[in-house]
Amino acid sequence: MKFPIYLDNHSTTRMDPRVLEAMLPYFTEKFGNAASRNHAFGWEAEEAVENARKQIARLIHADPKELVFTSGATESDNLALKGVVEMYREKGDHIITSMTEHRAVLDTAKALETKRGLKVTYLPVDKTGMVSPDDVRNAITDKTILISIMLANNEIGTINPTKEIGKIAKEKGVLFHCDATQGVGKIPVNVQEMGIDLMSFTAHKIYGPKGVGALYVRKKAPRVRIAPQMDGGGHERGMRSGTLPVPLIVGFGKACELCEQEMATESVRLAAMRDRLQAGILKELEEVYLNGHPTQRLPHNLNLSFAYVEGESLLMGVKEIALSSGSACTSATLEPSYVLRALGVGSDLAHSSIRFGLGRFSTDEEIDYTIKRIIEIVTKLREMSPLYEMAKEGIDLKSVQWAVH
Ligand SMILES: *Cc1c(COP(=O)(O)O)cnc(C)c1O
Repeated sequence: MKFPIYLDNHSTTRMDPRVLEAMLPYFTEKFGNAASRNHAFGWEAEEAVENARKQIARLIHADPKELVFTSGATESDNLALKGVVEMYREKGDHIITSMTEHRAVLDTAKALETKRGLKVTYLPVDKTGMVSPDDVRNAITDKTILISIMLANNEIGTINPTKEIGKIAKEKGVLFHCDATQGVGKIPVNVQEMGIDLMSFTAHKIYGPKGVGALYVRKKAPRVRIAPQMDGGGHERGMRSGTLPVPLIVGFGKACELCEQEMATESVRLAAMRDRLQAGILKELEEVYLNGHPTQRLPHNLNLSFAYVEGESLLMGVKEIALSSGSACTSATLEPSYVLRALGVGSDLAHSSIRFGLGRFSTDEEIDYTIKRIIEIVTKLREMSPLYEMAKEGIDLKSVQWAVH
């Protein structure tokens, strides 16, 4: 077993060696600009890009012409929201999103609110982290131009009822954008069946390179139009100017092809490992709570709260395992995750949460080791915790007067 162990695959993934192999020639001898129409170097690059476009489109059941390459899902989210709002402004000034979206959507929505006077509805989620299709329906007004709801959450793995939301959007004639970054390549995604009009995703979450992503933009029924946010040579049918990063796009294509071929078996394998990790921890430790949906969640995700244990202390105690906690260091303070807060998880349990993100290169050995170490460290930290001791003695912590007057 090699240390450190990587269990943070929602943040990024290790590139698959087969992806690197496909990319390498495009850094060296095949260096052409895909927009060079007059010579063999350009034709070769263009062919590689078009081949990647097909591989990517196949994974999401789209037409290759419906893909716009970007630098990643953050840019795709920005382009979708800003592009639609700018293009459809005369139709309305209202969009609907949810409280547990990735910051790339939330901060873009916030910017549109403050800088461009857009009205935004941030839908709540239930205690499993799911958006209710009825809430979406009820939030739609005659001024609504866009619904932006993620496919699967990056912290808790909960999968939203995307097909139902797509159906409502269609019925009401409102465009539907979906940040599918965590779902593409992990669970089946079909833009037709799901009624998705615009969709963001990125290569580096699916064992591809960092710095390349895509925005799916529906071409018919309806034909979606977006205002470009980058002016220049008119690449990507005018929607995103800039010379295409051919090696990255080739890697993105290869990554999608591998996911298409291996997703069915990989998701079963990862879900079994994840379930074993969960069961192994819960068997030995009390007061451990699952965050997210028990079944409607990503196969490689596990988010647990360990009562009476600070997530940050836990991470510091197991430095040989790369994990993520439910607290974000924002400036001087430690803020509990806004996703967990939206689920109604209390501040204490939110600070006690740990996200385990399994991936293609995770092994059974690593999972066994992780189970053992988590049990050890949680037990140790609880032994040191006066709160845990009081709780064990049957003292109701809520009745304790903490403040010194
Ligand atoms: C990682 C992630 C993003 C950002 O993707 P980048 O390619 O790193 O910009 C956006 N949305 C979700 C849900 C993500 O998990």
